[in-house]
Amino acid sequence: MKVAKFGGTSLASASQIKKVCSIITSDPERRIVVVSAPGKRSKDDVKVTDMLISCAKAGLEKGSAESELQAIVTRYAEIANELGLSDDIVKIIADDINTRINSDKANSERYMDNLKAAGEDNSAKLVAAYLCSIGKEARYVNPKDAGLYLSDEYGNAQVLPQSYDNLMSLSDYAGITIFPGFFGYSTAGEVVTLPRGGSDITGSILAAAVKADLYENFTDVDNVYSANPNLISSPKPIYEATYREMRELAYAGFSVFHEEALVPVFKRGIPVRIKNTNNPSAPGTTIVKERHNITEPVVGIAGDVGFCFIYLSKYLMNREIGFGRKLLQILEEEHIPFEHMPSGIDNITIILKQSHLDEHSEKRIVERIKTELEVDDISVQKNLALVMIVGEGMRNTVGITARASGALSRENINLDMISQGPSEVSMIFGIKDYERDRAIKALYNEFF
Ligand code: ASP
Repeated sequence: MKVAKFGGTSLASASQIKKVCSIITSDPERRIVVVSAPGKRSKDDVKVTDMLISCAKAGLEKGSAESELQAIVTRYAEIANELGLSDDIVKIIADDINTRINSDKANSERYMDNLKAAGEDNSAKLVAAYLCSIGKEARYVNPKDAGLYLSDEYGNAQVLPQSYDNLMSLSDYAGITIFPGFFGYSTAGEVVTLPRGGSDITGSILAAAVKADLYENFTDVDNVYSANPNLISSPKPIYEATYREMRELAYAGFSVFHEEALVPVFKRGIPVRIKNTNNPSAPGTTIVKERHNITEPVVGIAGDVGFCFIYLSKYLMNREIGFGRKLLQILEEEHIPFEHMPSGIDNITIILKQSHLDEHSEKRIVERIKTELEVDDISVQKNLALVMIVGEGMRNTVGITARASGALSRENINLDMISQGPSEVSMIFGIKDYERDRAIKALYNEFF
């Protein structure tokens, strides 16, 4: 059995939904389907989720959101009419969004999540209604009825372990189950959403729960590419990658597949295939546990901005037992996650996402490190980028660092940091953020 997830552009219009339904019905193994909210129809269009966020803001700030509600209902009504569905489904959708707008506003985060979830929820109702209208056996399933429980972190929830057992029975239904992505329920029964783009995560949770043979993720590109196609023209497609390679690439900026979505399928060893709704016969990119025919050392190059480094040094640091623990404890107490921590004999650099620090926390952390750890020197460097080359084949290839740093030095790019994790599946270069694109191009030319 396959679990298939369709992203926003695949649900953006009636013609896209027809493509989705023909993909679903062309393979009897596609029995559990996760859908996103309608996405953009063109470059300048607005996603329904973003319309719902504006709607929630209007509800919270002005107490009403009449025009915002109308715009959203019109989007669904256009799709429903073009699919030849009756007005009943439009009424169900309009009533649903209206109820959410008029719900209790005492907790603004809860109110926002309840509205954000309406995009996927109504998209699923629409697709199920269309499949039934063309004579297929299909049903819409609400995540609460199915037992998809999430932590009560609004806008950033994580799956709770009991969900997997609860969701297992979804596979008992012989017809096609249409399940909304992006949200679930807290144990207190409130709607909570996953991070943005989280329908990928829902699909992965369901695939793991029903022990699917394959998790298919339908989007609007034929493949994942070895570098950002907006930066490199016609980059080499990636046909196969390991979970680890995809995780590293997603971390450093590849946005085709949500970085948290690999966890549930990875734990159960379920392969993932990324495919194009607009070109379903293309082979796509398959993500597997292990690759056997590794011919090239590097599969992809990615880079992201928004990092900062806290550099600190102390003479004889290597002799001081507990130094690392005390340092990390300061970060833990300040609730700041760290990304990497390369070290020398008497110095350490902690790499953080800049968005996790504000002026006050930065001052406090620097002060605490100075006084509690008595360091000789501390400085914070901002506006940095991390550029990564990723590939399982790097492990057994001599000279990768030389080639990469050679390519960067020919571009006159100064390296603030180089780090290769013990797994040797990636190598990270810390550089100034304005040099990121040039660095990616230089590395791409070197390795591809
Ligand atoms: N609709 C949600 C978003 O725009 C979730 C998703 O599409 O995966 O973030």
